[in-house]
Amino acid sequence: MSAKVIVVGGGYGGAAAAKALDPAVDVTLVEPRETFVHHVGALRAVVDPAWAERIFLPYDGLLARGTVRRDRAEEVTAGRVRLASGAVLDADFVVLATGSAYPFPAKIDVPDRAGARERLRAAHDAVARATGCCCWAPARSGWSSPARSRRRGRTRR
Ligand SMILES: Cc1cc2nc3c(=O)[nH]c(=O)nc-3n(C[C@H](O)[C@H](O)[C@H](O)COP(=O)(O)OP(=O)(O)OC[C@H]3O[C@@H](n4cnc5c(N)ncnc54)[C@H](O)[C@@H]3O)c2cc1C
Repeated sequence: MSAKVIVVGGGYGGAAAAKALDPAVDVTLVEPRETFVHHVGALRAVVDPAWAERIFLPYDGLLARGTVRRDRAEEVTAGRVRLASGAVLDADFVVLATGSAYPFPAKIDVPDRAGARERLRAAHDAVARATGCCCWAPARSGWSSPARSRRRGRTRR
């Protein structure tokens, strides 16, 4: 009997882990999103509507043996995951891959593809109507504005 592994989160890390483990163990991938979202392309999808189609990749076919369960983990303990639907899954191993959160549009904040497309379209329309733009990099991100870098003597001239 093969080991039971629950992977919580189907982003880049969780999807890769589930796929790698799939041939060897009994994998269940738990992910609330309808599709994998290629978030690296999310900002581009705001300005280029063609990309709003490209960043959603179905989970069908990701796993040959295991299953993808559309749900959210509410509680994780050693060997047990309780889902928002009320189901409780037991496992020999749990992989936590719940990732990071950024405000929209850097990360898509709705779980279904149609809603996400609509959100991107609305953001695209707002950008298309804009008459100016403001670039802001929060200090916490580690990025530096040219003005701050100059103050710190880090700007190459
Ligand atoms: C605009 C943008 C551009 C980026 N560009 C790059 C780049 O060029 N190169 C690079 O290396 N990195 C880039 N990154 C960073 C990269 O996206 C993250 O490092 C990456 O997403 C981390 O992957 P992850 O699998 O750990 O988490 P995530 O991709 O955040 O995936 C986590 C998953 O867990 C799911 N989840 C969360 N909570 C639960 C729960 N309770 N139950 C079940 N599932 C849950 C989420 O729905 C999500 O699908 C970029 C990020 C953004 C936002």
